[in-house]
Amino acid sequence: MKFAFLCRERPGAAKQRVAVIGSGPAGLSATGYLVCRGYEVDVYDKLPIPGGMMTFAIPKYRIPLDSIMEGVDELKSKFSVQFNLATKVICGERHDEGDELATNTVDLLKLVEGYDAVLISTGTWRSRRLGVPGDDAKNVMSALEFLLNLHMVDLGLRKSHIGSFKKVVVVGGGLSAIDAAEESVLRGAQEVYLVYRRTIKEAPAGEYEVRRLMRMGVNWIELAAPKSIVVENGSARGIVFQRMKLGEPDETGRPRPVPIPGSEFTIEADTVIAAIGEIPTPPIASECGDLAKYVGKDGRISVDKNYRISGRNIFAAGDVVTGPSKIGNAVGQGLRAAKEIDKFLSARILAAVPR
Ligand SMILES: Cc1cc2nc3c(=O)[nH]c(=O)nc-3n(C[C@H](O)[C@H](O)[C@H](O)COP(=O)(O)OP(=O)(O)OC[C@H]3O[C@@H](n4cnc5c(N)ncnc54)[C@H](O)[C@@H]3O)c2cc1C
Repeated sequence: MKFAFLCRERPGAAKQRVAVIGSGPAGLSATGYLVCRGYEVDVYDKLPIPGGMMTFAIPKYRIPLDSIMEGVDELKSKFSVQFNLATKVICGERHDEGDELATNTVDLLKLVEGYDAVLISTGTWRSRRLGVPGDDAKNVMSALEFLLNLHMVDLGLRKSHIGSFKKVVVVGGGLSAIDAAEESVLRGAQEVYLVYRRTIKEAPAGEYEVRRLMRMGVNWIELAAPKSIVVENGSARGIVFQRMKLGEPDETGRPRPVPIPGSEFTIEADTVIAAIGEIPTPPIASECGDLAKYVGKDGRISVDKNYRISGRNIFAAGDVVTGPSKIGNAVGQGLRAAKEIDKFLSARILAAVPR
């Protein structure tokens, strides 16, 4: 995977310095663009290996780690990009998934002062909870937590903390749900259920992916939503679902799932995986003064059309701006934001030249 695809080597000595926070597809593509425009780039990431979701969430049979590391190694060796890994950047106090792997903390405001520009591309590292009674039981987890754990075990960073893992119920119909269900099958779970509140036609992962999993032996149940978790001695033993029917379109344009009274049924489970979406995680907490007002209620950073926080040397791109998306979108955002950083910093040099 090539991130610096616009040049073969850095064009001349570095002129200005840029900090990129987050080494997912948005941050790495921005880094590749910026080094080819002659900037010195330092990357900061809270996880110990670069690549973001590509390294720690998406299964290896889809994106091999070697291909990500090839591009990262080129950034390091040919373009002297410094990777500050296991380093969480934050202004204020907040905790997201994967934070336990960070051994250092850096203050966002120090980076803003110390670099000519800062790009925030920190993605969506917090998961939506099921929000039903019992969802805090020991063996109820998010898809991100489940997949992150598998990747960390594979990478030798952790011993598995997932329990018996024989009967798995995954709730959701998106890519995270597909990956969690598929990994469960591939890693030997005896029974895997994928339960979605609308029909296969509305599943965000697409009908093809769902049918592919059904062929692998996954039990697909549509038009059902969780109502409560059956908990015994602190652990989930099953999940109570309620059947749904499709109603009028909601604000997303998709038919709203409407509960059917008295239609509850239970599926036994020793692992419950909630794959119902991730939330943007900017390195800005509510107590971060003036900057906090650029973070919306949904966690997304609001930037102007130039990917910039108005009036500041701070830019943002990728899923932390758009909400959960796809690799291609994140790469496009990273490249466009990097182009804007280049314009912004070039204009500053021009303004400083005496006429
Ligand atoms: C399970 C799953 C499966 C998916 N499958 C696909 C797929 O098949 N195809 C597809 O196109 N898309 C897929 N996606 C979506 C895709 O992974 C994302 O859209 C994409 O990775 C977003 O890129 P990003 O660079 O914005 O963020 P990320 O890839 O999330 O990278 C953000 C980086 O920022 C770091 N970070 C976060 N907070 C901080 C902080 N405070 N300080 C320092 N570093 C921080 C994180 O460690 C991470 O490395 C999937 C997503 C998930 C969750």
